[in-house]
Amino acid sequence: MPDPLLELRNVSKVYGDPETGVVALHDFSLTIDRDKPEIVTVAGESGSGKSTLANLVLGFVRPTSGTIRFDGRDIVAASPGDHRDYYRDVQAVFQDPFSSYNPFYRVGHVFDTVIRNFGLAGDRAKARDMVEDGLNAVGLKSVDVLRKYPHQLSGGQRQRIMMARAYLVKPRLIVADEPVSMVDVSLRSSILDVMTRLRDEDGISFIYVTHDLSTAYQVGDRIVMFYQGTLVEEGWATEVLSGPKHPYVRLLIESVPRPDPGARWEGEIQLPEEAMQQKARLTGCRFVPRCPYAMKACSDELPPMHAVGTSGHRVSCVLYGPGHDAAGRS
Ligand code: ADP
Ligand code: MG
Repeated sequence: MPDPLLELRNVSKVYGDPETGVVALHDFSLTIDRDKPEIVTVAGESGSGKSTLANLVLGFVRPTSGTIRFDGRDIVAASPGDHRDYYRDVQAVFQDPFSSYNPFYRVGHVFDTVIRNFGLAGDRAKARDMVEDGLNAVGLKSVDVLRKYPHQLSGGQRQRIMMARAYLVKPRLIVADEPVSMVDVSLRSSILDVMTRLRDEDGISFIYVTHDLSTAYQVGDRIVMFYQGTLVEEGWATEVLSGPKHPYVRLLIESVPRPDPGARWEGEIQLPEEAMQQKARLTGCRFVPRCPYAMKACSDELPPMHAVGTSGHRVSCVLYGPGHDAAGRS
């Protein structure tokens, strides 16, 4: 078996004191295969740990426990030399592309910098071709954008340029943390389409972070859903979103209109702000205070992931464990 592209094993992140700090991510595991590029959607309310996960994968945050391997290499223990390769293979696209631009430089500077830093092109002609290529991949033309200043572009254009910049490096994984949440609803689809195309044509995998479930309907191959730093449900996005099992996910999804999967969905399904701050000492399911099915066992320990259906659909809820047949299932 070749090493997976990305493998997180039992990764936890506690900010602050290990006893009393915030558990931003609890015991999370994820594998992305090397030869099956895919878009993994990471969904959850604000504060549920999505950015922490993104930053762990990007190497910006160190796990409190657990291991993160990319292409078989431990990225936490990696030497600075290894990191160089890593930063080429794994690129980031963030929520606010403005923050990634220097307002005093023209957009072309973004590309000049990345080409220089990674030594991507031998000469100017080659560089020009690469940039044109990258911009075309995201549906832009160099004549329209390169000589402009960041404020002269729309949010959608800025975000596409960040995607083109990431693409230029020919990474194997792009971690996109809320890449469309500051883009007009009407333009979101086209940016999500770019991700799908880069997956299919260039074999790039994505970790796509969102708090807007409507976009998950549109992209996700797989979805992982978080509640207060814990994984509550995972599986194929179509299966999870059309037949959610965890009481929290059911509550979320049943309370919103379901888009027609065949149609372009231009609404928003905003997840609410996280209700409670996480407690460091984790005992039991974090949804207990809001769960209509909560029973004693739920407070005693965090339920393991139970398989439901076939294809990797799993849910962390005692209702799907042994001895709890039909109760609460839909
Ligand atoms: P999301 O991206 O889903 O909104 P985050 O990963 O940003 O969630 O945050 C998860 C939790 O960790 C939140 O309770 C947040 O306040 C906390 N947190 C995030 N970053 C830090 C930090 N650098 N120091 C302390 N707490 C943090
Ligand atoms: Mg975030």
